[in-house]
Amino acid sequence: MFDYDVIVVGCGPAGLMAAAELKEKGINVLGVDKKPRLDKNIRSASGFFNDGQEMNGEYIQLEHLEGKTKINYTKCGFSLEYSKPMEAIHHTHIIVNSGSHFQATSRKKPLYHIFNPTTWLSDRYKRAKNLSVPFMTDTVAIRAKEINGGVEVNLRTRGKTTSKTCRKLIASDGLQSRITRNLGLNRNRLVFGKGPTIEYEMINVECPLDRGDIYITGENNIGQPGGVIAVPSPRGKKAYRFETMSALPGSTSYNMIEFFIKKSPFAKWFKKAKIVEKTAAIVEMFTPIKTPYLGNILLVGDAACFAEVLYQGATMCGYMAAQAIDNELKGKNGFKEYTDWWNSSFEWNKDPKRMADYTKRVLFTRFFTPDEIDFLFDLSERHPAVVGEMETGVYNYTNALMDYFSGLPGVPDQLKEKMKMIKEADFDKLLTVISRRRD
Ligand SMILES: Cc1cc2nc3c(=O)[nH]c(=O)nc-3n(C[C@H](O)[C@H](O)[C@H](O)COP(=O)(O)OP(=O)(O)OC[C@H]3O[C@@H](n4cnc5c(N)ncnc54)[C@H](O)[C@@H]3O)c2cc1C
Repeated sequence: MFDYDVIVVGCGPAGLMAAAELKEKGINVLGVDKKPRLDKNIRSASGFFNDGQEMNGEYIQLEHLEGKTKINYTKCGFSLEYSKPMEAIHHTHIIVNSGSHFQATSRKKPLYHIFNPTTWLSDRYKRAKNLSVPFMTDTVAIRAKEINGGVEVNLRTRGKTTSKTCRKLIASDGLQSRITRNLGLNRNRLVFGKGPTIEYEMINVECPLDRGDIYITGENNIGQPGGVIAVPSPRGKKAYRFETMSALPGSTSYNMIEFFIKKSPFAKWFKKAKIVEKTAAIVEMFTPIKTPYLGNILLVGDAACFAEVLYQGATMCGYMAAQAIDNELKGKNGFKEYTDWWNSSFEWNKDPKRMADYTKRVLFTRFFTPDEIDFLFDLSERHPAVVGEMETGVYNYTNALMDYFSGLPGVPDQLKEKMKMIKEADFDKLLTVISRRRD
C-alpha cells in the first residue's frame, strides 16, 4: 500500500545514519536529498569534535587506531568508524580589537579533536551504500502530509514533480527544515537571531600561535562588528578553516573574511596561503522543539534543535530515530521514547539557560569594555590559563574562564561582579548585552 516503510528526507549526518540503521534492520527505506552528492559536505562546519566528556547525554570515547578512529557512543551503545586519524587540540585563543591576546591550554587531555565533515559524510554514505540503501539525490522534498495512516511526500527532481508514500517519515532536513516549517511546528518557537557565515579552508597559513582555535574580533582585525573563528583543519599543520560570524546580508561575511586575510594586521599570515575550499551557511537560533513529532513524522537532528546538534549529536539522533521507527513499526510508542530521550539528553532541552552557556563561548568578551578586556588579557599573559579536566566542555567553558579571571591577583570587585553576572546570564540577558555593543 505504501511505496516505502520509511522515507528519510535530508541525508546529512542524521539522515545517513538513520537510513543505514533502518536498512540494517531489514526496513524498506528511501533516502532523499536535494544535494547531487551525499559524500561531500557543502555547508560550513568547523570540525570541532567533543569527546572524553559528558555532553548532551552522551560520553564519546575515541580509540585512535592505525590511520583511522573508532568512535564509541558509550551511553547510546553504538560505535562508528571514522576513516582518518583525528588530531588532538590543546589550545584556544581570543584576540580583540587592540591586539590583546588570551590563550588557554589544556595539559591533561585535549580540549577537543578535529574532524573533516566531508570524511564523516563519505564514511556514513559508504556504509549506507554497502547496505544497498536507495537514494534520490538532486531531489527537494517540498511538503509532507498525512494520508491513510501514513505520509505522502511531494518531491521535485530537476524540475520534475513526483510524490512517494511511506508509513513513517524522518525529517532530517537540517536547521532550516521545510518539513518542520510546513507542519507549522516553528510557530511556537522563539527566534533569537539569524546570520550568514562564510568559511575559507586554507593551507600554508603562517600562524605563529600554538595550534588551536582562535576567536578574532574588533574592527581593526575584521573591518566591522562580528568575529572570525579560525579552527585547525585536518589538511595539515598549517591548515585552518576561517569562518565568519556576522549579520545579514551575506555580503558582510564576504567583506569581513576578505578584510581579515588581506588588509588586517593578520594579512602576513596569508602571504603564501591558498584557499582550498569555500563554503557558506545561514545560522539560526530558535528555541528547540520539545515534542519533535507529529502524526507519522519524526523531526531528527538540527530540524528540531537550538542552534546545532553538531555532527556527533546528529549521528546519535539518527541512530536513536532508527530505533524509534523500528519500535513504531512494531506497534510500540517509539516516537514517545525518542522524545523522552531527546528531552533528557540535549542540555538546552533540560535547561533553557544552557542555550546561553553554549553561546557565551564566543560572545562573553562583549560584556566587558575594551579597557577591561585588555586588563584581563594582560594579566593572563603573566598567569597562564590552564584548563582542567572537568572544564573543557563547551557548555561549561565560559563559566570556568570567569572563575579563572576572577581568581587572578588584582582583579577589582566590580569586574568580579560582572563575571558573576556573565555566569548567571540567560539568553535574554545575553541578547540585551550584545545588541548594545557593536564589536
Ligand atoms: C558555521 C557552522 C559551523 C559548525 N561547526 C561545527 C563543528 O565544528 N562541529 C560539528 O560537529 N558541527 C558543526 N556545525 C553543526 C553541524 O553542521 C550540524 O549540527 C549538523 O550538520 C546537523 O546535522 P543534520 O543531519 O541534522 O542536518 P544537516 O547536516 O543540515 O543535513 C540536512 C540535509 O538535508 C538536506 N535537505 C535540506 N532541505 C531539504 C529538502 N527540502 N529536501 C531534500 N533535502 C533537503 C540537505 O541537503 C542536507 O544534506 C556547524 C554548523 C555551522 C553552520
